[in-house]
Amino acid sequence: MGGELDADTRLVQDAILRLVNSTIQPRSAEYDANAQFPRANLTLLAEQGFMAMTAPVEYGGAGLSYLAQTVVVEALAFGCPATAVIYEVHNSLHTEAVWRYGTDAQKANWIPKLSDGTAIGAFALTEAEAGSDAADLSSMAYPVAGGYRLTGRKMFISSAGEAERYLVFARLPATAGREGITAFMVDRDTPGVSFGRPLEKMGLHASKTAEMVLEDVFVAVGDRLGSEGQGYEIALTLLDGGRIGIAAQACGMLAAALARSRRYAMERKQFGQPISRFEGVQFKLADMATDLYAARLMTYEAARRRNDRDIRVRAAMAKVFASEAVVRHALAAIQVHGGYGYIRDYGVERILRDGKVTEIYEGTSEVMRLIIASSLLHSTEEALWKV
Ligand SMILES: Cc1cc2nc3c(=O)[nH]c(=O)nc-3n(C[C@H](O)[C@H](O)[C@H](O)COP(=O)(O)OP(=O)(O)OC[C@H]3O[C@@H](n4cnc5c(N)ncnc54)[C@H](O)[C@@H]3O)c2cc1C
Repeated sequence: MGGELDADTRLVQDAILRLVNSTIQPRSAEYDANAQFPRANLTLLAEQGFMAMTAPVEYGGAGLSYLAQTVVVEALAFGCPATAVIYEVHNSLHTEAVWRYGTDAQKANWIPKLSDGTAIGAFALTEAEAGSDAADLSSMAYPVAGGYRLTGRKMFISSAGEAERYLVFARLPATAGREGITAFMVDRDTPGVSFGRPLEKMGLHASKTAEMVLEDVFVAVGDRLGSEGQGYEIALTLLDGGRIGIAAQACGMLAAALARSRRYAMERKQFGQPISRFEGVQFKLADMATDLYAARLMTYEAARRRNDRDIRVRAAMAKVFASEAVVRHALAAIQVHGGYGYIRDYGVERILRDGKVTEIYEGTSEVMRLIIASSLLHSTEEALWKV
């Protein structure tokens, strides 16, 4: 349900669904309950060629399409949303940065490790005082002989302390706003790098989120990504893809809400018949299926058009629609399950806990609407007919 996939992408989807159903989904509740980082899942994904999927083959990537990566994120979120977000950040926000903006030497050095599972990649943009307004960041990069010294604190970093490599955004001295923001690749074990304790989150317990602290961290010129002052443009371009990934994550969780609700409604009997016979339950399932269909169409279409000029607005629309749909329907799934929906063993309360953050990270729903409204108000009325 949700648009035709080409034969190659269908093969990728079949392969990832096999892995999710056989291995990733069955151990997902345990990872969540123990707040255990799903390293074994990431190793498995690397072994089966799912890491660095869109990176060029000549640098050790799989050279597959953005759509293929998107269906992988969706399937992972169906089985284990925490694994999905770690995977999405690693691929869309880190590995893609290397192949889009890296020099030949950087690509040759880094992509093989990001592909074979030796290194997990993270993305460090947000700060405690600079979230939606990321251009206001205050981490500093002071030029020194042979490189830079980085000082600052990055907030809410997914895979903090677990990932081996970090894409860090910091500002050159005497600059303000977007100007002067520069991207750097930082190894976890570099002197001066440390991490706060994992934040206790509402959901996604298996995905570690923590502060990253940089105290006078030396980064060689060869570890700067792109040119000085190009960092903000790099961050926004990566987030265009990242938001498609978050929309895919929401689609995967919505598919799980629908699958569990459908199964339960056909099994559970009240008033002498399965509750699926009651129109009040059927309408919830029908609305879930309809929104899943729409969310998938928007997400897959955005993925197909990853490199189009208007991708920012397409990605924003897919993200805001899919993320709000999963929150709405996670509540409906709990309702279909009655009292059991409120109990952990049935796995639908987790969809609400895990799904809520898709309305927040990589740009909140409000920020997505600002992007959509700005595009709408700066284009012509005729453009409303061009999709
Ligand atoms: C679990 C988790 C994982 C994350 N992982 C990462 C990561 O790996 N790397 C990283 O860099 N960041 C990460 N983030 C940070 C995330 O991207 C930010 O939390 C998000 O961008 C919002 O920023 P904020 O939390 O500072 O909220 P704020 O920007 O303070 O927003 C607070 C509220 O004000 C609203 N608001 C703000 N500005 C406007 C406006 N102009 N118009 C209307 N409403 C507005 C927002 O929509 C929101 O409702 C993560 C966050 C979480 C929760």
